[in-house]
Amino acid sequence: MKTIGLIGGMSWESTAHYYAVLNRETARALGGLHSAPVIVHSVDFAPIAEMQGRDDWAAAGRELAGIAARLEAQGCGVIGLATNTMHICAPDITAAISVPFVHIAEPTADALLRDGMTRVGLLGTRFTMEKRFYIEVLEGRGLEIIVPDVGITNLNGIIYDELCLGIVRDESRKIYVEAVARLAARGAEAVILGCTEIGMLIDDSVSPLPTYDTTELHAKALVAAALEG
Ligand code: GLU
Repeated sequence: MKTIGLIGGMSWESTAHYYAVLNRETARALGGLHSAPVIVHSVDFAPIAEMQGRDDWAAAGRELAGIAARLEAQGCGVIGLATNTMHICAPDITAAISVPFVHIAEPTADALLRDGMTRVGLLGTRFTMEKRFYIEVLEGRGLEIIVPDVGITNLNGIIYDELCLGIVRDESRKIYVEAVARLAARGAEAVILGCTEIGMLIDDSVSPLPTYDTTELHAKALVAAALEG
């Protein structure tokens, strides 16, 4: 099995979840005491969040590409970036490495298409919902994507001011469930939890639509890629 290089810390709350899924999936695939060979490079999220706020994606891209190259130099055979939003820098990362990079939207699209979904809601940070970098990957796979038509500021604030700090509030869960209900009313057949912390708040037990949790799907895809070949 190849060593997985995981660029994490955005936020560490969801990176901890990735670490658990990587190990659980490896044990499931290989049995016994097997666990994932993984190097986690966990960043300080504050300066990255400042770059987001300044729209300085070039600086963030340089930082993440450098980390990816160092993970490859340390022997990682597959690289993952444990955040949807920062996939805006995916082109910088893939240009800096020669090992496979598993884009978080790809296993998400695979799962949706496998289940026959066509029109799908997307929840995430405002960057993920409003910019094109993420939606265009999903559309490229033939999916029709719809994002909330109201409340984006609030949904975004809950991610950065609560979930990334480990705060999970019932009132915020209600806001997310209502957002999913609105997407359902507009014809969505499923909803992508397109931010690696949203799974802390909602899942299939409370969501009006089937949920596709990018953290789970991405971590599983990284294990599959590490086991390949
Ligand atoms: N983890 C989040 C995501 O999946 C948000 C934090 C970030 O901006 O990286 O988009």
